[in-house]
Amino acid sequence: MNYRIVTLPGDGVGPEVSAAAVEVLHEIGRQFGHQFQIDEQLIGGAAIDATGQALPEASLEAARQADAVLLGAVGGPKWSDPQAKVRPEQGLLALRAALQVYANLRPLQVHPALAELSPLKNERLQGVDILFVRELTGGTYFGAKQRGKDFATDECRYTEAEIERVVRRAFELARGRRRHLTSVDKANVLETSRLWRSTVQRLAGEYPDVVVEHQLVDSMAMLLLTQPSRYDVVVTENLFGDILTDEAAALAGSLGLLPSASLGEGRNALYEPIHGSAPDIAGQGIANPVGTILSAALLLRHSLQLDAEASAVEKAVDHVLSKGPHSRDIGGEAGTDEVLTAVLKALRNNR
Ligand code: ATP
Ligand code: MG
Repeated sequence: MNYRIVTLPGDGVGPEVSAAAVEVLHEIGRQFGHQFQIDEQLIGGAAIDATGQALPEASLEAARQADAVLLGAVGGPKWSDPQAKVRPEQGLLALRAALQVYANLRPLQVHPALAELSPLKNERLQGVDILFVRELTGGTYFGAKQRGKDFATDECRYTEAEIERVVRRAFELARGRRRHLTSVDKANVLETSRLWRSTVQRLAGEYPDVVVEHQLVDSMAMLLLTQPSRYDVVVTENLFGDILTDEAAALAGSLGLLPSASLGEGRNALYEPIHGSAPDIAGQGIANPVGTILSAALLLRHSLQLDAEASAVEKAVDHVLSKGPHSRDIGGEAGTDEVLTAVLKALRNNR
């Protein structure tokens, strides 16, 4: 098959890690007989420098037409002047809004070989395998904001339909995993959380094969550190998800390892590593490409329905994390290219 992938390398380490992921896609193409047509477009600071806009119309149009979009990272000190009219991050927010990618998936596994890098250096980390599903286009971040002389408000608003579509997605994903869903809210005090919880309870009737558990966000913040291996799929609203997924990322040992997928209706989907542009190491060839390579695996699985291909990539990465080489963020000395070469070799050797 022939697939059209738009890449948006962006800023900082973005171009380095997305180039690595593209190499992996081409290797998968050779092995499984697919053609990945890569259309590289501008976003973020790179786009501001070239066109004055953080998300040029051409990039958005290409993203809309593509089978899937793979993004590097946006932002950096060069564009961080608070007085600036256009900021790189606006490009990413505009892209998410335009594609209406409401479900943000963040898988988290703690690789046994890296368990000692985590702040929890113990057996609690064995077998941690969580899929977070965070609502991405509603809630406090998008509600009405007001600033008075001596007060400020941020409205948190959710419609039942907004909750239902993301929770449904989480139920479906739980069916493909261990059939356990944890819904996180603050239903003891927040009205939006009560609507969230009752919606989850209603949908649970349609998924009798999935075990549902409700947790309050404050308890969940603690449980993630004390019993992380208990969880399978965790679904929550935008703000809670933002905080919990960053907390959980610390368990994995490095930001550089973790992928994400943001899914909307139909073909709308965006894949990116969870890390930012890492300006402190940009241009040095030392960024860990694993988070972006695993994002490409999610792209294969969720946008192209190429499950065997996705698993092949994940298996190759797993092999490299077990045997090395390791990049610096996970205690090794390898550069981006060395890690990439090892992943490509593992792919060819089918490991
Ligand atoms: P942003 O504001 O763009 O989200 P951030 O402040 O969250 O950025 P990152 O850019 O993600 O920060 O970087 C945080 C730290 O993690 C930095 O020290 C960076 O070098 C390191 N880091 C991030 N990504 C990687 C990677 N792929 N490989 C190695 N180190 C990384
Ligand atoms: Mg960040």
